[in-house]
Amino acid sequence: MSNKDNHIPRFTDEATYLWGMMADERRKLLLANVFCAKCGGVTTMVEFSGEVHSSGALALQGLCCQCGDPVARVIETGELFRDRN
Ligand SMILES: [Zn+2]
Repeated sequence: MSNKDNHIPRFTDEATYLWGMMADERRKLLLANVFCAKCGGVTTMVEFSGEVHSSGALALQGLCCQCGDPVARVIETGELFRDRN
C-alpha cells in the first residue's frame, strides 16, 4: 500500500459500505451541512475521506469548500438508518 496519493479521498471498507447504503441525495445533503469553525457557519465538505468509529458512526473528514480548513462530520448510526425505519 502506498501513501503517495494523499489527495485522493479514501474510505475504509466499512465506511464505503455505510456510505454506499445511503441515497445519493442524503449524501449530498450531509456533505452540504458541515460546520466550519473558521467560516463560522455551514459549509460543504470536499475532498473527504471516511472511516467507521467503534460506536458504528460514520466519520467523514475533509476540507471546507470555502476556506480549505479541515472539517469533519460524524453521522450517527441512527442517522444512517433513519430512512429505513
Ligand atoms: Zn471554512
